[in-house]
Amino acid sequence: MFEKVVIANRGEIALRILRACRELSIKTVAVHSSADRDLKHVRLADESVCIGPADSTHSYLNIPALISAAEVTDAVAIHPGYGFLSENADFAERVEESGFTFIGPKPETIRIMGDKISAIEAMKASGVPCVPGSDGPLRDNHDEILAMARKIGYPVIIKAAGGGGGRGMRVVNSEATLLHSVALTKVEAGSFFGNDIVYMEKFLENPRHIEFQVLADTHGNAIHLGERDCSMQRRHQKVIEEAPAPGISDELRQKMGKVCANACIKTGYRGVGTFEFLYENGEFYFIEMNTRLQVEHPVTEMITGIDLVKEQLLVAAGEKLSYTQEDISFNGHAIECRINAEDPDSFMPCPGKITNFHAPGGLGVRVDSHIYSGYSVPPHYDSMIGKLICHASDRETALVRMAGALDELVIDGIKTNKALHSRLVRDAAFMAGSTSIHYLEKKLGLS
Ligand code: ADP
Repeated sequence: MFEKVVIANRGEIALRILRACRELSIKTVAVHSSADRDLKHVRLADESVCIGPADSTHSYLNIPALISAAEVTDAVAIHPGYGFLSENADFAERVEESGFTFIGPKPETIRIMGDKISAIEAMKASGVPCVPGSDGPLRDNHDEILAMARKIGYPVIIKAAGGGGGRGMRVVNSEATLLHSVALTKVEAGSFFGNDIVYMEKFLENPRHIEFQVLADTHGNAIHLGERDCSMQRRHQKVIEEAPAPGISDELRQKMGKVCANACIKTGYRGVGTFEFLYENGEFYFIEMNTRLQVEHPVTEMITGIDLVKEQLLVAAGEKLSYTQEDISFNGHAIECRINAEDPDSFMPCPGKITNFHAPGGLGVRVDSHIYSGYSVPPHYDSMIGKLICHASDRETALVRMAGALDELVIDGIKTNKALHSRLVRDAAFMAGSTSIHYLEKKLGLS
């Protein structure tokens, strides 16, 4: 096992990784920006290194500073967490070229999956169902584009091959706006992602977002850990996640899970990963693969009893998977609410000092958060300050438990989205299950 690991991230996920390392007797190096000296995991880590100023371009995204931190501390591996450099193939390559282990897939896998067009190609070749679409980049041929949209059928969605974070997408309802929309998306894609290649897909009108968790080792073994429903979204950002997905039969779960695990074997995937699908009228359509640990991984941990971060560290160290598919069973239901420091009306980030923090507790209640009373949420990073996860024998009880846990949660001094979660877990349609990806925005009157 690794002797010492650099945690190249911040906030709750850095703390989560530190906890897994501690249980595996791995020493930890916390790297942090000058604005993050007071992060909880910085205090708990064996060593810490300041890697730059508050601006993440010069700290958490600063590849030479991260590699130097590993060098000066004699660490042997780097865990990227999520966000920041976690899906940056160049970073993974630089880490490995410098003689360290990148805790994630091979750089070439990250590169393939990071481009949505090559990811879809790889998935199709591995038997994963995809959204009907252009099968590759849109060429600069107006007649061809018009004919393709007619064949697919309106509405269609134009997506940037290099897109991410819900940006670089445009829905087109009729032929009148198609060519203009393609041109606009291309310009946007070029300026946001430095790559103006776009493609076309059928726009599914009322889908759910259901994703499968996989785990693969470097010995050709891969398993799935079931699915999560992440349909409760605002601006393509997940707000609440749960596992299992309401209404998915065990037969369908095993069938789709197997498709994903087989695709891992075919593509030589290693580590943890997520296959994201849109699910409509009983069919799954692949949209993208995340080649890293997900924010919502705890709901899978709660229903499988498997520590995904420990497994990720073990397979990165070259161990064989300690589970076969038959060992995996699903127990009860888990829900996660992402707690953000944000204005409840405008959804704008609301950094500031937390004057008082009380975490909820009790059977089946888990809080993954780095905050504490007196902690100041800096303005420079993502507004998520923690995750509240509730597990129970069934969905109904998990929802009631979440409602109670939210009532117990106290975060004073800053604005948060706690009240929104309290409403949502008592919302009749959400309680009934199976709401679509548009439900939350419609409820909020945003669409
Ligand atoms: P990103 O990498 O930016 O997150 P995704 O491809 O994962 O992009 O898509 C993000 C979200 O956009 C999806 O969860 C879904 O809400 C919407 N979306 C993407 N493709 C389609 C589609 N073909 N039909 C309907 N909605 C889509």
